[in-house]
Amino acid sequence: MKQTNIESAISPPPQHIDNNLRLARLRQCGRVDLFKHALPAQFGGVNTDFPQLVEHHKQLGYSTHDTGLILAVNAHVWGTVFPLIKHANDLQVQEWLPGLISGKLIGGHAITEAHSGSDPSAMRSKAIANQHGYLLNADKCYITNATIADLLVVYVMLDDQPTGFVVSKHDSGFHTEPTVLKSCRGASMGKVLLDNCQLDKSRLLGKPGMGLQLIQQALELERAYIFAGISGIMEWQLEQIIDYSRRRQSGTVHLGKHQAISHKIADMKLRLDTIQLWVNQCATLSNNQQRITLPAAQTKLYASEAFLQSSLDAVHIMGAHGLDPDTGITELVADAMAGKLFSGSSEIQKNIIAALSGTGDGFKGRI
Ligand SMILES: Cc1cc2nc3c(=O)[nH]c(=O)nc-3n(C[C@H](O)[C@H](O)[C@H](O)COP(=O)(O)OP(=O)(O)OC[C@H]3O[C@@H](n4cnc5c(N)ncnc54)[C@H](O)[C@@H]3O)c2cc1C
Repeated sequence: MKQTNIESAISPPPQHIDNNLRLARLRQCGRVDLFKHALPAQFGGVNTDFPQLVEHHKQLGYSTHDTGLILAVNAHVWGTVFPLIKHANDLQVQEWLPGLISGKLIGGHAITEAHSGSDPSAMRSKAIANQHGYLLNADKCYITNATIADLLVVYVMLDDQPTGFVVSKHDSGFHTEPTVLKSCRGASMGKVLLDNCQLDKSRLLGKPGMGLQLIQQALELERAYIFAGISGIMEWQLEQIIDYSRRRQSGTVHLGKHQAISHKIADMKLRLDTIQLWVNQCATLSNNQQRITLPAAQTKLYASEAFLQSSLDAVHIMGAHGLDPDTGITELVADAMAGKLFSGSSEIQKNIIAALSGTGDGFKGRI
């Protein structure tokens, strides 16, 4: 991939990364206009479209090989920026959007709870309408950017219907707790706890009871585009492996000379190019304002499985050297495992694909 200005701006993460650095790296993404793609000009977009968004995210992945940073960027963009662009009231637009788009403010979305992961309609966190607006009590877990976010879109039950609210870190009763995962270390991760958090009624996002629709829209975009950045990481990964297979001597020949190795590399290349075709297809559809529910689920399912298989192959080809943390190669296996879960697991994507094909558990029509 060719050198770009983003490469000099954001480098791979050091072995020890803390929240100050995670936040600084996200803000730097804002400074190179990463959050300004595919936005209407009136909101401060840079007059670009989805294919350019995909290209910029890919460059970020390639130059940083940091799955956590890609995860954090996607949580910010699809979890907060786009839902606000689509559903925010004038006050929310004025107060939050300029900061979110420039990267001065960082966001994310809080859906998951201990009792509801794959099925958000089972969430137990609640809002009660009162004379001041809404009183929220929530307990959310595995929330990307939780401990560094300035604001989050938090989904809770209002009259038994999931509903979205914009919650600031300065609101009364807002707390976070860090969670340490053995993957995606470039992202901050944690719990979001709302303890009698009183919000003005202007903080409702969209309409009461619209939460599932908002969640679906946000996750659909995340599924379509999170592998734009990760495909950049996979391009870097493939280059490392090809280079190693040429340098490493195996008897009298270079390692890649063995067909068992070169065929694994061919599979890695095929997977990478297939992911890029899928992501580009989503970008073309988004540009034409067409629905992406099915291709987004297909992209997420294929790409996350492919990322895991290629990451396993990469370690295998490098042998023991691949286990050296300095290579950054083994770390991608744990990142790829998380990739099968975040934005909805592989099984959930299969349920969506089957339902949209006219059968299965999630099919809503008559059989
Ligand atoms: C790195 C990372 C970042 C995340 N970031 C966020 C975030 O920013 N915001 C947020 O709200 N959440 C976030 N999550 C949570 C994520 O959305 C959930 O992990 C995911 O929805 C799966 O839920 P669960 O982990 O509770 O698994 P469960 O729902 O308990 O599922 C466990 C297993 O059962 C399978 N399963 C579940 N239901 C079905 C079914 N109906 N049919 C077939 N199989 C099924 C699943 O595929 C999975 O393999 C993140 C998770 C990770 C790992």
